[in-house]
Amino acid sequence: MGKERLPRVVIVGGGFAGLNAAQALNGAPADVTLIDRRNFHLFQPLLYQVATAGLSPADIASPLRHVLRKQKNCRVVLAEPIAVDLGKRHVKFEDGVVIEYDWLVLAAGATHSYFGHDEWEKIAPGLKTIEDATEIRTRILLAFESAEYEGSDEARRAALTFAIVGGGATGVELAGSIMEIAAKTVVQDFRNIDTKTTRVILFDGNDRLLTAFSPESSERAKRTLEKMGVEVRLKAFVTNVTRDGIYVGNEFVAARSVLWAAGVRANPIGASLGVPLEKSGQVKVEPDLTVPGQRQVFVVGDMASVVSGGKRVPGVAPAAIQMGTYVGKLIRAELGAATSRSPTDLPSRRPFEYWDKGSLATIGKAKAVAEIKGFKFSGYFAWLIWSVVHITFLISFRNRLIVMFNWAWGWFFFSKSARLITGDSSMRIDEVKANEVVIGREVSNLESPRL
Ligand SMILES: Cc1cc2nc3c(=O)[nH]c(=O)nc-3n(C[C@H](O)[C@H](O)[C@H](O)COP(=O)(O)OP(=O)(O)OC[C@H]3O[C@@H](n4cnc5c(N)ncnc54)[C@H](O)[C@@H]3O)c2cc1C
Repeated sequence: MGKERLPRVVIVGGGFAGLNAAQALNGAPADVTLIDRRNFHLFQPLLYQVATAGLSPADIASPLRHVLRKQKNCRVVLAEPIAVDLGKRHVKFEDGVVIEYDWLVLAAGATHSYFGHDEWEKIAPGLKTIEDATEIRTRILLAFESAEYEGSDEARRAALTFAIVGGGATGVELAGSIMEIAAKTVVQDFRNIDTKTTRVILFDGNDRLLTAFSPESSERAKRTLEKMGVEVRLKAFVTNVTRDGIYVGNEFVAARSVLWAAGVRANPIGASLGVPLEKSGQVKVEPDLTVPGQRQVFVVGDMASVVSGGKRVPGVAPAAIQMGTYVGKLIRAELGAATSRSPTDLPSRRPFEYWDKGSLATIGKAKAVAEIKGFKFSGYFAWLIWSVVHITFLISFRNRLIVMFNWAWGWFFFSKSARLITGDSSMRIDEVKANEVVIGREVSNLESPRL
């Protein structure tokens, strides 16, 4: 007699939610497949540090195969499914290949949204992937490089102006970090420009920054940024983004670098389920995180829209971790139940409950805001909490060690060790020259570099 087939659990996405779901199934009598289009788990909360040259990409990424190497019931597949067929119980790939499931967990996350203006993405990159982070890093560093050779004050000012759209945690972190680079890190590196004249302008359509925090913490964050030299523009709706700057209503603000930190859109694979979605594309799931009418299909993390304790669960890492673990444990407890029992005999389920551990946002060196269980902190103590929490949640010991070392180094020397311009930067400088904005004093250095 052939060996009985184990139940197949397919997890799409190896982020916080998917990875934790897989790990909760460790040792369970199931055949677990974790599918991700990348071969690594990415610690997104520290992406802004890669974008601002404080850390290198590998410091915040861990190969999924390595993370799951000891979990014998789990295999990792590097692939990108494009749709789910609920009727046939399989996920589909572009080339027609399918992977069948008995249990499905969709955990493919979200990406940024340009509110119907996808054409802005090329000009104003958002921050979601490693590639986004290195692209933003390159743009920030190139802004200083090109300013060094600009011929007019006006052009130099535009090159040294950074516009950041979106005053959530990512926008605040980027603004503070770019200001620190300009005011501390690269001050001595250039000969023709004073990098301290850099303008960082943070735009948000709301009447305060960090709307996930209390108004008090929002105000503190704003004051801290302003003390650092960041210009905060609230109730400012960006109406157009061009290569030369942005429009807020009819007002034009010249800025060669525009960064996007506003709006989130759930992964489009959720739409293939054919069930009700939020405007943001999130799947409206049941209290046990299942897709309506599908007891063995779950949507977790940033892709899911669910209410817990009367409030919508936010799109943050702790929520994704908790959802993943909840679903992993639930599947583990019910493995075999679906086939061996009649539908009326199935166990009832405890709904998912989100445990809000608090909110944290960093602004710069020794500057942060934190809200934990109604207590509000700011300044050095909040920054310390932020640092400990982020180090603790990094996936591997190696990453924790490297990040701690880099932070300690940066603390003492204000240095940003990953100040690398990657990609073909000469081409981009040529673009500047072709636009006849390079008339500078040291242009010969550009044309014939001396080794
Ligand atoms: C810049 C930034 C800063 C943030 N800062 C914080 C913070 O400070 N604190 C906090 O709590 N939260 C923060 N967040 C939010 C937090 O990172 C997310 O809430 C969390 O990552 C959601 O987890 P997830 O598992 O749902 O999705 P993700 O972590 O995004 O994982 C999704 C995974 O799915 C994979 N994937 C996507 N599409 C497919 C596909 N079609 N096929 C296969 N695989 C696919 C991706 O490669 C990825 O590995 C931040 C997010 C960003 C972008």
